[in-house]
Amino acid sequence: MQPYQEFLAEILIDEKSLQARVKELGQQISADYQNQDLLLICILRGGVPFLVDLSRHISIPHMMDFMAVSSYGVGKRESSGSARVSLDLQMDIRDKNVILVEDIVDSGLTIASVLQLLETRQPKTLKVCALLDKPERRESEVPIHYLGFSIPNKFVFGYGLDLDEYHRNLPFVGVVDLDKYKPSE
Ligand code: 5GP
Repeated sequence: MQPYQEFLAEILIDEKSLQARVKELGQQISADYQNQDLLLICILRGGVPFLVDLSRHISIPHMMDFMAVSSYGVGKRESSGSARVSLDLQMDIRDKNVILVEDIVDSGLTIASVLQLLETRQPKTLKVCALLDKPERRESEVPIHYLGFSIPNKFVFGYGLDLDEYHRNLPFVGVVDLDKYKPSE
């Protein structure tokens, strides 16, 4: 696999800025849900690093659960339109305060279909926390109650966001130089 240094066009959000913002979001959520039950739902796999860091900054007791939806396959960089649930939640969300934790809202189609599905399960409240938002690409209007950063229409990787399943571990969000990136066969 190609080292990321070969195709990193720029670091868009560095580690320090990411950590500072995630801490603020955790503090805000802790204040908003004081004395209330809270369940964080992480959308696999991109939301994992964000969920882990965010959860550490949430000072109130809370639960977490995971679901996987497929909209972008390996090698594809466009949303397929609607999300298919490939791994469902273990928990019953009925009457619970739920925050959906997502890496990035791009077209918005993934979050829109996940929200639609979760609403049918009658949670007490349902909110969205996204690390990144690419508003220029929006096709479906979705509410983002807690947002890390609004970014330009560039393909990014790192901090959960993958390039053909690699590089999710990087502590920063970087922009891909697609002319220099060579996808593995
Ligand atoms: P949407 O349905 O909002 O178009 O797509 C959301 C999903 O697409 C995200 O959860 C993420 O997996 C993927 N995605 C959207 N933009 C990017 C990007 O710039 N980089 C990467 N690595 N994935 C992206």
